[in-house]
Amino acid sequence: MPYGDGVTRDALPPPYGELVAELVAIGRRAVTAGLVIGSGGNLSARPPRADAAVVTAAETWLDDLTPADFSLVRLVDGEVLAGHAEPTTELPLHLENYRARPDVNAVVHLHPQLCVLLTALGYPIRLITTDHVYYVGEVRVARYRHPGTVELAREAAELIEDGRCNCVVLSHHGCSVVAPNVGLAYRRAVNLEEAAVATYRVLLLGDTATVCPPELQARVDSRPDGAV
Ligand SMILES: [Zn+2]
Repeated sequence: MPYGDGVTRDALPPPYGELVAELVAIGRRAVTAGLVIGSGGNLSARPPRADAAVVTAAETWLDDLTPADFSLVRLVDGEVLAGHAEPTTELPLHLENYRARPDVNAVVHLHPQLCVLLTALGYPIRLITTDHVYYVGEVRVARYRHPGTVELAREAAELIEDGRCNCVVLSHHGCSVVAPNVGLAYRRAVNLEEAAVATYRVLLLGDTATVCPPELQARVDSRPDGAV
């Protein structure tokens, strides 16, 4: 979907306005849920297969976003088409994720604490409950690259390219979670950290192996829509 003529810096076209409202809501939820400190993390979304996305602007607080805190950015070259003149410094991460996967319409980048800590210590995040399997699925880890760089963005996007992974942990930094819509991207991110919390707790109890019964994963894999 082209972004269309008549876009001004002050007004986003209607489908983007609706997406902004959804992103404002999940930004507040993410901070309330402790998935990021307000000043960290960034969010984006696009109408299905559109060639531009709304992205949170630089130096915004995720629990205090307003429609003025979003930039409309063209995916092919990152040019700002409307809205805030300065998109997030993690813009490359968002652009590369959309370029890697045509089915991705929302990207959520947060700094969930246990997710990052466990991975930094070399503990894989385990899928223990049915929600973990359904919402999170395979977790992949991107090697450390400096925040805001194209190298980090490419590292993360390559890990989702085959369509079998939607939740990437950025080493020593945060997570990059993708989905076909904003709501599912947020659910995946919440459940990713929930899986990390569960993994941490079972490690404290001395368990190093328990995961959800593999037959559930097989059931999810066998259904194109992932429904269980
Ligand atoms: Zn970050």
